[in-house]
Amino acid sequence: MKKIISDLIRQSNSIAIGGHVRPDGDCVGSCMGMYSYIAEHFPDKEVDVYLTDIPAAFDFIVCDEALEHGHQGDYDLYIAQDCGDVDRLEGSIEKFQSAKNTICIDHHISNTEFADHNYVVPEASSASELICTLLPIEEMSEFTAKALYTGIIHDTGVFRHSCTGRQTMEIAGKLIEKGFDFGKIIDESFYQKTYKQLKCMGYCLENAVSEYDGKLCYAVADYEFINSTGATSEHFEGTIDQMRTTEGVEVALLLTEYNPGEVKVSMRSNQYVDVSKIAVANGGGGHVRAAGATIRKPIDEALATVKELIWTEL
Ligand code: 5GP
Ligand code: MN
Repeated sequence: MKKIISDLIRQSNSIAIGGHVRPDGDCVGSCMGMYSYIAEHFPDKEVDVYLTDIPAAFDFIVCDEALEHGHQGDYDLYIAQDCGDVDRLEGSIEKFQSAKNTICIDHHISNTEFADHNYVVPEASSASELICTLLPIEEMSEFTAKALYTGIIHDTGVFRHSCTGRQTMEIAGKLIEKGFDFGKIIDESFYQKTYKQLKCMGYCLENAVSEYDGKLCYAVADYEFINSTGATSEHFEGTIDQMRTTEGVEVALLLTEYNPGEVKVSMRSNQYVDVSKIAVANGGGGHVRAAGATIRKPIDEALATVKELIWTEL
């Protein structure tokens, strides 16, 4: 697979790179890492990145020129990263479908293998880690390494989540040898909150509900709240982790309603509940310990549907 991917990159003159809708650190980091690696090693190729609504916290790894789509017509190659199914490429699905060749590099257990060549490793901590197994770290610039490191720390919760393995640490070790200030990246992209994020998290935590002997902790931000505050998904970053790390909690659940009747469900578990199963049952996906779905129902019904499934697993 390593050879197929490097051959396809070499042979393609125009390359599109895309990740999932509402991109997180791994999505932005892996896409920008791949972009900068290709742009630096193959300056003659036309490379464009398709990501929308990138949270401002990741500005330091965004190459603006990657988002100015210079290429006209179909791409020779589309590389989908950190994306489990084609619908989640939102905004560039047509570019994916019309590309001559397609690759998917991903670590979601629910991945539907939608590309011509699929490199899907559910055991990997992140798509960024996977890219480090495909591209030689020795040949990466400090910028590329920084983007991929950012991706790894975001999907591992700074090396805390169970997806962190020996390979993750070894790769991270090689990446930090490039010399960037990793402490600053962790603080500013992971822990730092804006005032609005603080308030959104505060609202959820204040209204959080504890059920099933404290094993389930959930919070709801309905359309009324979202509409009146103008909150977006980035404003709830970290909220679900705060609930997950509450004593006695097995499953943390956060429901957000950005459009009326369209409920984004986020789930996390600690020890034994497979939340990806619950997400898939609702048309979503993800990982065993972190998954999500969008449910088109009134928010109370969406909550009841998910709670019913969680209850049987607790
Ligand atoms: P989050 O709760 O942070 O949005 O997502 C947790 C994990 O589940 C991420 O890996 C994300 O990619 C995945 N996920 C979240 N929502 C969906 C969804 O609607 N469909 C799929 N396939 N995966 C999702
Ligand atoms: Mn990821």
